[in-house]
Amino acid sequence: MTAESGIDVLVSEVGPRDGLQSVARPMPTDVKHGWIAALAAAGLPEIEVGSFVSPRLLPQMADAADVVREAVRIPGLTVLALVPNLKGAERALAAGTPKLTMPVSASRQHSMANIRKTPEEAVEEVRRVCALRDETPARQRFDVEVGVSTAFGCTMEGPVSEDWVITLAVRLAEAGADSVGLSDTTGYANPAQVKRLFGRLRRELGEKAGGAHLHNTRGQGLANVVAALEAGVTTFDASLAGLGGCPYAPGASGNIVTEDLVHLLESMGLRTGIDLERLIAARALISEGLPGEPLYGHVAEAGLPKGFAYAAQRKAA
Ligand code: ZN
Repeated sequence: MTAESGIDVLVSEVGPRDGLQSVARPMPTDVKHGWIAALAAAGLPEIEVGSFVSPRLLPQMADAADVVREAVRIPGLTVLALVPNLKGAERALAAGTPKLTMPVSASRQHSMANIRKTPEEAVEEVRRVCALRDETPARQRFDVEVGVSTAFGCTMEGPVSEDWVITLAVRLAEAGADSVGLSDTTGYANPAQVKRLFGRLRRELGEKAGGAHLHNTRGQGLANVVAALEAGVTTFDASLAGLGGCPYAPGASGNIVTEDLVHLLESMGLRTGIDLERLIAARALISEGLPGEPLYGHVAEAGLPKGFAYAAQRKAA
């Protein structure tokens, strides 16, 4: 993170995409707008607001274009949308999406199940999307971020080769991706593995090394965050109230909880720019849009510690 941004770690909220994608019921579009506005007002600098996949496959994301058009009006917010392929990228571009994220699975079986392509074919799709970016007029040009999914293990294949994950990340960067991050789609990662793999990613990709998308499926999510921090990672995905998982990786629920992540970072003296009380209050919007949906998170349940001070306050004192 740069000094002038005023933050040390960028927390990227994925609930409106990753979270809602794994909930069978659609959230009404106007509630999505209100929820995203509340997240931005709490200080989240970046939000993944939807997915340009086939509405037949994911009716929850059928309103992605409307959600993007509303979200890009929020000052200072970086709006991200997931696209699986060039067709999705064209729809995202038409809606004015400034940043696209593409999942590329390191596991062959997961890749076929998720996007019906081999990892090699997925790299070629990233190349086509980057070509679209390069021929787009500067004013509308979008960034392309890639997340290598199942990078720490797969529910279908089991262990995934670390050498292959790094090889794939290098090919994605060469195909034109602006950044390449790693995703623990299945909640299999452990801190030693996270530190090792992100260390290698950063050595191989330099400034194109992207952030961490970690799950808490087996309770190791925040330990993995600390390991990634030690490897130099400064961007983390998280989902408000831990909403979501992956519909194509059975048993893989549990994005790390945004509130708990922000509390961890701020208590460690790392500035996020996020107001925890406002963040916790935004959980009510999930309950409004999806009544009865379970909400997770330790900090929301236990409350902030007495005398809690944000990292910026402690730095100023
Ligand atoms: Zn996730």
